[in-house]
Amino acid sequence: MKTAMVVARVSSEEQKKNRSIETQTKKCRKYMEGLDFTISHEFADCGTGKFLDRPGLNSARALAGKVDAIVFHVVDRFSRGDRLDAANLLRWFQDEGTEVYIVGMGKIDTYDEDQMDDVYAQLRQAAKERENIVRRTSDGNRERVDAGKVLGRKRLKYGFDYDPQAGMLKFNHIEAPWVVKIFKWHAYERLGFLAIANRLQELAVPTKFDNLGIPKKKGGRCKWDLASIGRIVIDPIYRGVWTWGKKNTEKTPLTVQIPAMIDPELWELAQEVSRKNRKRNSGGKKHDGLLSGIATCSCCGRPFYQSLQRERRLAYECYGQRAVYSPDGKTILCHGAFDAELVDLIVWNAIENVLREPDKLILGYQQRQKEKIAQIQPDKEYLSRLRAEVDALDFKRANYVKALGDGVIPHAELYQLIDGVNKDKQERIDKIGELEERLNTAALGTLTVEKFEALCERIVKGIDLDQLTPTDKIEIMRALDITVTIHRREAERKGNKKTGRGSATISGLIRIENLDIAPEVVSVNLSTMRLRNDTTTFI
Ligand SMILES: [Zn+2]
Repeated sequence: MKTAMVVARVSSEEQKKNRSIETQTKKCRKYMEGLDFTISHEFADCGTGKFLDRPGLNSARALAGKVDAIVFHVVDRFSRGDRLDAANLLRWFQDEGTEVYIVGMGKIDTYDEDQMDDVYAQLRQAAKERENIVRRTSDGNRERVDAGKVLGRKRLKYGFDYDPQAGMLKFNHIEAPWVVKIFKWHAYERLGFLAIANRLQELAVPTKFDNLGIPKKKGGRCKWDLASIGRIVIDPIYRGVWTWGKKNTEKTPLTVQIPAMIDPELWELAQEVSRKNRKRNSGGKKHDGLLSGIATCSCCGRPFYQSLQRERRLAYECYGQRAVYSPDGKTILCHGAFDAELVDLIVWNAIENVLREPDKLILGYQQRQKEKIAQIQPDKEYLSRLRAEVDALDFKRANYVKALGDGVIPHAELYQLIDGVNKDKQERIDKIGELEERLNTAALGTLTVEKFEALCERIVKGIDLDQLTPTDKIEIMRALDITVTIHRREAERKGNKKTGRGSATISGLIRIENLDIAPEVVSVNLSTMRLRNDTTTFI
């Protein structure tokens, strides 16, 4: 007996309305069996008929010549796209030795001009309908957006979930904290997109694809690339503005206010850093300064970041040095940048002294690890209990849903019960997100354990501390939980009072803190700044 394969298709909208693949397949099957074929394969696609490159249809293509016939329910299930392409594909099947059938039209002979006129007309009609559907849905969408609703997307932005009932985006508790980190790294630490991507990868942070369980063509889990970070940092969605209709050139895009994940100050700062990086075309900072993001200014309480000064000297500036970031947007809180090389040297010398006694260091380190683990243990237990409860709720819900069909308990009552379960579940999921975030940040320190221990081993064996790379040094500082505070003290001011030109010497008090190292306080003249009227340039 001859074999046939069925190819069915529903658009995503039709699928929502429960128009099923099964009905189409059943009709095709009945039709072909009536013609004495056996159905050897059934394929289905869910999505637009505009393109012929669809998984189901492609599977059928791969079997051309091996199966005697291919059957579609009606023409528009086959194609709503370009007529010539569609007709050519039918011709190709026929030439490969697979007869083409359409239920209701019978066997299609693509060399029969009269019959092809009919097929063309139907293909034309199918394509026209698609245009109408697109127009209808986009008008409907515009109305929804006008009413302040956010539309669901196939792929959501990292950090967000979609609440279809409210038509609103909500924070994804696992992803959102990482978005905040990305913005902070970019804005405060001035890391470029590539450095951020690398750091996320190092920390094994899952991407949106990973969290959705979508397999990727290349690369494994937790693969972040430069471009995806760039798309996150520039997207106004993170400061609470959702935009729709950007691609439509005829109508102005609409925006909807959503909860802001990033506060406006941080968002603006990140934009400025991006702009600068683009302008300089240097793609951001390639290496961390030893103290970027580790050192804090005691005057303004904000972190120091590394900046490039004249003659390509690196310096540490704090955010208090920039009027735009002060509370009133005008007052400069701190004056004078610090020579980065000098500060790094002082701090590293102090740490190096401690590193020369690795035994003590390792002991203290292990002690701290133990404390950390003990600290997070209750959270961990709580987390697994919550997860078990969520599973139990899912089970309960499934039972209620099943009971809907039984009709033993009234539907209204069941819906109420299901609502209750949903609410309980959401509460636990929120709590889980919170806990996971807390455990995540706690785990950051433990990430470097192995690397740190390997380093300690090298130190014990007597490696030359001068051979440590900047990355090694940063690893060590992170592992030791070292924090550095720089206190500013203006020592001397020289200059012309009238013009305001002159210079001042800033001295700094560096305080290095950590559990294993006694607080180290170094006082040193760190920088000289030139004063010119009210604006100040440094070093
Ligand atoms: Zn400051």
